[in-house]
Amino acid sequence: MIRFYDVIKKKRDGLSLSTEEINYFVRGTVDHSIPDYQLTAFLMAIFFRGMDERETADLTMAMVKSGTQIDLNLPKAVDKHSTGGVADTTTLIVAPIVAACGVPVAKMSGRGLGHTGGTVDKLESIPGFSTALNMEQFRMQVAKIGLSIISATAEVAPADKVLYGLRDVTATIDSIPLIASSIMSKKLAAGATHIVLDVKFGRGAFMAHFDDAKRLARTMIDIGTMLGRPTTVLLTSMDAPLGSSIGNALEIEEAIAILTGQGGSADLRAVSLALSREMILHYYPDMTVEDALQLASEVLETGRAYAKFKEMVEAQGGDLTHGLPQAKFSATVRAASSGFVQAIDPLLLGSMSVEIGAGRHKKGDLIDYTAGFVVAVRIGDRVEQGAPLLQVYSGHAVIGEYLERLATAFTICDQQVETAAWRIERLT
Ligand code: URA
Repeated sequence: MIRFYDVIKKKRDGLSLSTEEINYFVRGTVDHSIPDYQLTAFLMAIFFRGMDERETADLTMAMVKSGTQIDLNLPKAVDKHSTGGVADTTTLIVAPIVAACGVPVAKMSGRGLGHTGGTVDKLESIPGFSTALNMEQFRMQVAKIGLSIISATAEVAPADKVLYGLRDVTATIDSIPLIASSIMSKKLAAGATHIVLDVKFGRGAFMAHFDDAKRLARTMIDIGTMLGRPTTVLLTSMDAPLGSSIGNALEIEEAIAILTGQGGSADLRAVSLALSREMILHYYPDMTVEDALQLASEVLETGRAYAKFKEMVEAQGGDLTHGLPQAKFSATVRAASSGFVQAIDPLLLGSMSVEIGAGRHKKGDLIDYTAGFVVAVRIGDRVEQGAPLLQVYSGHAVIGEYLERLATAFTICDQQVETAAWRIERLT
């Protein structure tokens, strides 16, 4: 008989777990026979000791089998997932682009995790928008308009649902086996036949170092390959916020600005187009890389992607006619000196957006959809003393000490700086 105490101790001591022990852990997570304090101790042991390839594959499969495995009734189901970033609103741009190119998108997304935002929280900031469709409604919407984004239901990889919530509040997110099994179990259980992953690296990512991000990418590609689900990864840098907006309603606003050609960050637009290209290539394998990118750019520029976005919002009960919820309070962070913007700390901004209410401190916390920031500058910009660096939005008044800490996210220097703030690399 397995005692979970012994399993924790074994991993704490750096030993490899058997398939049976991993299955026991996942079963006990889902039926709640293992208490949260033992689960979190075990997650911390994995965080420090890691898991080998076989253990990670076993954990992924046990999580897939912990719930329903969905058949989307599609000849090809191309899915996309980001390992999480700051101002990383790509799904809201990529999904309508590729759906407008004829690639059906049946996507299950998550909520915010740690200092990073989640697509479901963002979508729920649209008045009336429901991310809780049942399977029948989900399938029907995809059949009808080719696009639906819902919250990962309790039946899909339920083990991940429990572990994700615990990891979010116990500093156990940035672990290769835990991220790989979390992401791949959800994609596999949700019926993806082809997978595109955006693996972030840098200060604002869960993997700060490029080599770790690459190992995470390889781990997920190997799992996908082993299970016959072709997987492509774009490694993209997260050393500064990708978009300009951080926070739920604010990120929806920026996504709409990009979809309507009325602004938004050029970096966010570029990464979104690159991810769209990869999804299109999985669906239309005879297309060239250039043609796929061209098609994605065309539907964005002609407004067809935005029309698809609006169709999805309407189909899921959302109402944008009166706009998005607006913050009651706003304040400006200004440059203390003149110079060039050398760095913008995405980790600090992401963490402080959670502090102000855009994310959760503990499981089940309510969030303030209006809370967050709009960054007014990009790396390399010249600023004069007193110029706005960032606009803060919140449902409650913010205090001076908070604004002073926010100002430390910006490094201003005398010399002109390189503007290549992000980098992108493709792995298949
Ligand atoms: N995204 C997920 O879905 N899971 C993780 O563990 C990290 C990012």
